[in-house]
Amino acid sequence: MAQNVSREVAPLVVSEEETLEISLRPQSFKEFVGQKRIVENLQTYIQAAAQRKEVLDHILFSGPPGLGKTTLARLIAREMNVGLKITSGPALKIAGDLAGILTSLQPGDILFIDEIHRLYPVVEEYLYSAMEDFSIDIIIDQGPSARSVNLKLKPFTLIGATTREGLLTSPFRARFLIHEKLVLYPPEDLIFILKRSSQILGIEIREEAATLIAQRSRGTPRVANRFLRRIRDVAQIHSQGIIDEKVALKGLEMMGVDSYGLDNTDRKILKTIIEHGGGPVGVKTIAVAVGEEDDTIESVYEPYLIQEGYLQKTPRGRKVAPKAYRVLGFQHKAEQQDLFMNLE
Ligand code: ADP
Repeated sequence: MAQNVSREVAPLVVSEEETLEISLRPQSFKEFVGQKRIVENLQTYIQAAAQRKEVLDHILFSGPPGLGKTTLARLIAREMNVGLKITSGPALKIAGDLAGILTSLQPGDILFIDEIHRLYPVVEEYLYSAMEDFSIDIIIDQGPSARSVNLKLKPFTLIGATTREGLLTSPFRARFLIHEKLVLYPPEDLIFILKRSSQILGIEIREEAATLIAQRSRGTPRVANRFLRRIRDVAQIHSQGIIDEKVALKGLEMMGVDSYGLDNTDRKILKTIIEHGGGPVGVKTIAVAVGEEDDTIESVYEPYLIQEGYLQKTPRGRKVAPKAYRVLGFQHKAEQQDLFMNLE
């Protein structure tokens, strides 16, 4: 069980990326940029629960990766001064894994389950009674003397995070009394985040550079911070450590990010659909063509492509909008027809 859950302690081995995330992670709600309505709601729920001396209701956070779901869970635990245990859907293979974690929770603790849409059905069903009346059934003994015993748990708050809310079963979703959907960040919020991160990293960033990086960070703080880190390297080697527009442009180009904020995979997705006559194309076909999991296509790439008007979801598959043809330098069917008509 220990390997399926992490306490709020520093893990032994952390990647460079993780170290960066830890140092840039907001430490209080005040430092959490944007998503104003969600932050205000959460602060109200936290205060109300604290006044009533009750545990916070179970929360479901949904939205694309890198928007701050895990960060919010950490901030809630900090604000409520309770323990936080972090695990993820696929890490809980059997009900016993979950039972071990649940019985170790202290009153008011928070259990954060990332990728909760990927919980195994048996584990999900096992969670139901834990969420509803803080009790679970455990089997003791084996063979003919095996029997089920109901065990009372200490009241806790479950925070689930999902990039695919639609995959949650309705009985499960209904057990979360607070639902908050995180949305892609507008460039002004990302500019703020980039400036704050630059300050923490001890690097100077010019206004135009922050604006440029923000516009190309697909509405995602994690992406903005990742770009900043790479561009910092460019600044260090080419411009005495200062990130100006030229350095930012060079860094973005090195990472394959074009002037529309699209990266290689985005362009491959759009190109695949264009090559299939503009769609509709099933997500599985797209996933195979670009060499990614269909879940990654749906949760990581599509939200931005849809928001920016490149892609449309239809019941029969994905279609590209005329904008995608223009951006990739293809001629749209309607434009081709116009051309023929003019020639006639
Ligand atoms: P998720 O759980 O939704 O995938 P995280 O909470 O792990 O996203 O956020 C990824 C990183 O992005 C964090 O470590 C933090 O540095 C940054 N971040 C996310 N949201 C914000 C925000 N609102 N303000 C500042 N930084 C943020």
